[in-house]
Amino acid sequence: MNETDSIDKPQTKPRPWWQRIPLTLQIVIALILAVALGVALGAGNPSEANKTFIETLAIPAELVLKALRALATPLILMAVLHTFMTTHIPGRAGRRLAVLLFTNTTVAIVIGLLVANVMRPGTWGNLASPIGEQTAPKSFDPWGLLKDAVPKAVLEPLVNNNVIQLIVIALCFGIVLRAIKSEQVAQGQTTYQPIEQVIGVLFEAIIRILHWVIALVPLAVFGIVAKVVAEKGFEPFKSLGAFVVAVVVALALQACYYLTRVKFGSWVKPQNFLRGGTDAFLTAFSTDSSVATMPVTFEALQHKIGVRETSASLGALVGANFNNDGTALYEAMSALFISQVLGQNLNLGQQFVVILTSIFASVGAAGIPEAGLVTMTLVFTSVGLPTQYIALLITVDWFLDRCRTVINVMGDMTVSALLDGKKPRSVDEA
Ligand code: ASP
Repeated sequence: MNETDSIDKPQTKPRPWWQRIPLTLQIVIALILAVALGVALGAGNPSEANKTFIETLAIPAELVLKALRALATPLILMAVLHTFMTTHIPGRAGRRLAVLLFTNTTVAIVIGLLVANVMRPGTWGNLASPIGEQTAPKSFDPWGLLKDAVPKAVLEPLVNNNVIQLIVIALCFGIVLRAIKSEQVAQGQTTYQPIEQVIGVLFEAIIRILHWVIALVPLAVFGIVAKVVAEKGFEPFKSLGAFVVAVVVALALQACYYLTRVKFGSWVKPQNFLRGGTDAFLTAFSTDSSVATMPVTFEALQHKIGVRETSASLGALVGANFNNDGTALYEAMSALFISQVLGQNLNLGQQFVVILTSIFASVGAAGIPEAGLVTMTLVFTSVGLPTQYIALLITVDWFLDRCRTVINVMGDMTVSALLDGKKPRSVDEA
């Protein structure tokens, strides 16, 4: 999905000093301060006198989560409409690209679910609900899902955060707007342009608000970690540790899958792919954003690995916008992890719903830091998991986000290599 250019425009006013500290450093500082406060407040043995104060510590995380939930549906809707309206991909290459993106994302989610089912990180410790009451996951009812797929009103999915209905509405409008645009372009008409502009501006507005919410994440982490440490000590973090290990294992397996695909589906040698892509991987890890990494990815593909310009631009430019395999894998694993924590394992049908919603959630996740957290709320809601647990995932997200961003970028590069085919670029093409 696109993050419009103007978002990163140089600011006219100098930013205050605290905004110039990188987000990750802010989160790490918040974590250290929170642990100190949590220990001071009892580390698992809080005194009665502090109970009310400890409860209030959860308020920033509650607000951040509410804001993320509220932004998720309009973000996905605008991302899908914007993609349909603005992306121009030539016919045959477009179909090939769509198939590659779909298969890679599905494999990523299946790997994530497999690792979570085998390692069962949610059973390794005792991760109690951080905020409020728990709700039981919905049971899987395929006919109910089908009957529910069409909303009663066009805006209903935006109000009740129903992801399946949202996908239906977004796809209908996206396909039809695209068709109208193509017809008008063929006839030399321009009436579609204001709509395209409105979609572009609304999309940018949502991303800007998202940046505000993300700026509050360190405060949310501080509050929630201090509360958990004060009330329950360090026990809950054991299973989060197991979750981190499980996600890293799954992402590593996804990287192996990419290298195998590159080896057998393109002329590029996996070792050259890794060597040539190092700059892009390091930039992805340090910036936490696949969109910010895009120029480096493009450069690595074209000049270090040596794929053709068309393949590099399709994979890197289109891919950075809406190919986020690492995010898809992470969102599916998080849902399974929390269901394990609750002792209410998702059955195969529910895991299928997780696959479906994670695919769309990853398309809707902007290639910016922490964007996966926003759309994760929809994956959780689709199978009835309590979204308040996302507050605890935020505490490890600053690290996992970097890892999954590397995989997002590697996925884009894999698609480029595969599109480039089995014949290397000739000297005349170079
Ligand atoms: N940070 C990721 C990216 O830029 C998106 C996410 O939050 O998963 O690709």
